[in-house]
Amino acid sequence: MEKLSALVSDFDDTLFFNKPALISAAKDLYETILKEENSDENYKTLNDLEITIGEGKIPKGFSKKWKNELYTLAYVKYSSKLSPNEPFINYLKDAVKQGNELIILSARGEEFRKETEELLSKYGLDYSKVILPANHELKDEEWKMLEVKKLSEIYNHIVLFEDKEENIRHIIRNLKPENIEFYLVDHSILTYITK
Ligand SMILES: [Mg+2]
Repeated sequence: MEKLSALVSDFDDTLFFNKPALISAAKDLYETILKEENSDENYKTLNDLEITIGEGKIPKGFSKKWKNELYTLAYVKYSSKLSPNEPFINYLKDAVKQGNELIILSARGEEFRKETEELLSKYGLDYSKVILPANHELKDEEWKMLEVKKLSEIYNHIVLFEDKEENIRHIIRNLKPENIEFYLVDHSILTYITK
């Protein structure tokens, strides 16, 4: 049987930086919640949104009620503010030209497939598939680990690119994979993660 190999890449903050889009989304949502009635939960969410506006990231324990709203604003309304990680995109484009298969694996969710595929096409990334979760029942790192497990049963060799070291560590801990290489992506810097 033919030996199959695949390059598997995360999307947000690996291929595209979402900070400016998240900040705009957080400002937008902040205004919306201010108009809602006061509750402890809304008060905490406003505090969390101030952190997002300042730092461009979502604090742990961010309100479930508003999470999807925030991501929808960031990934749909402010999609044009996602900025490409050009050196890494060019690296993957070259790898695809050399005959490698590219798979996008992102926990952002099936609801954002259209916007995700549009950005990939806009930057000329020739992927074979985009894998997104149908729902958000599992934690992102858990969902990702299970999808990598499925891929590692199909492909003899996988090279995985991801911006979150904890996601890589979670996969290594749970799968103890023999046939996967892991690279932590930070702008143009790829760091090989050893088990
Ligand atoms: Mg990411």
